[in-house]
Amino acid sequence: MKYLTEYRDGSLASKMAERIKAISTKPARFMEICGTHTVAIFKHGIRDVLPEHIGLISGPGCPVCVTATRDIDKAIKLSRIPDVIVATFGDMVRVPGSESSLQKEKGLGADVRMVYSTMDAIEIARQNPDKKVVFLGIGFETTAPTIAAAVVAAQAQGVNNFSVLSCHKLLPPAMDALLSGGELDVNGFMCPGHVSTIIGTAPYKVVVAQYHTPCVVMGFEPLDILQGIYMLVSQIEAGEARVEIQYRRAVAPEGNPNALKTLDRVFEPCDSPWRGLGMIPKSGLALRESYRAHDAEALFDLDVPDSGEPPGCKCGDILRGVNTPIECKLFRKVCNPENPVGPCMVSSEGTCAAYYRYSQV
Ligand code: SF4
Repeated sequence: MKYLTEYRDGSLASKMAERIKAISTKPARFMEICGTHTVAIFKHGIRDVLPEHIGLISGPGCPVCVTATRDIDKAIKLSRIPDVIVATFGDMVRVPGSESSLQKEKGLGADVRMVYSTMDAIEIARQNPDKKVVFLGIGFETTAPTIAAAVVAAQAQGVNNFSVLSCHKLLPPAMDALLSGGELDVNGFMCPGHVSTIIGTAPYKVVVAQYHTPCVVMGFEPLDILQGIYMLVSQIEAGEARVEIQYRRAVAPEGNPNALKTLDRVFEPCDSPWRGLGMIPKSGLALRESYRAHDAEALFDLDVPDSGEPPGCKCGDILRGVNTPIECKLFRKVCNPENPVGPCMVSSEGTCAAYYRYSQV
């Protein structure tokens, strides 16, 4: 437990909370743009130890939640093709599309398999040479390099019946879209440690320069988050805006050049639809022409109608930081983890699931 318990030390956390209170005079709202932060903040009761004038709001940082209904419908369409096996991470199976889910399709006989890694999907492809295995690729810059590496491996090993439906998303364009939309009222970003291990700090510098909004890259333990909030509050109090790294034990300013190289080898930026945020330019990743043989978009007819959010569901507003789950009329009454109406209640990193589990409302 070394390197973990140190970051969960209650007395140190209390001292850090006191330090925040001692310097904080100005009201401020900080957005956690990562679902892992949202869950950690609830789990460790971090909101409760902050001054009342410091607000934390959740943003679009859950890959399952931001996947557009249309992309889920594409996966469902794939699952209905007789010789196709759809492989995906667990949470995606339960997310409702416009009229079904992968779980429902599985119940109706579709071959949908939950995997823990892309390599598992390649193994399924190897074991089923007469089938076409499509991996539903979701996630931000953290997971995309591993999927890129898997595509490279599949091509090198001649696993020709493996492809990826790329629904990957890039976080910095979403931050830009949120700030340029004029709807969001935040004074700083709590930037995700794991994404930042890959991309480093350069993309956040662009955000800071354009919107004068402080960005602090934070780890996910309670002391990481409290220290990160202290760093944000310090900037607010000093009237400054810059990128800082709290999570120095994992994040370097230049990121991970090898991972970025693999990412760039396989993928190129493309316009991508986000739930709640709409189409954001250059915020997704499409497979490059040289990997077309592994690109599900190129191999299958995935034309499906564009459909919106489930009726009554406010996931889109929650992902933009405009509403909290408590403001959704369906929260707890109709929508719960056993009967999720939207992806924010399905995903383990979803804001609605976190509120359901940890808030008393
Ligand atoms: S509570 Fe359910 S219906 Fe409401 S926004 Fe969250 S996921 Fe959507």
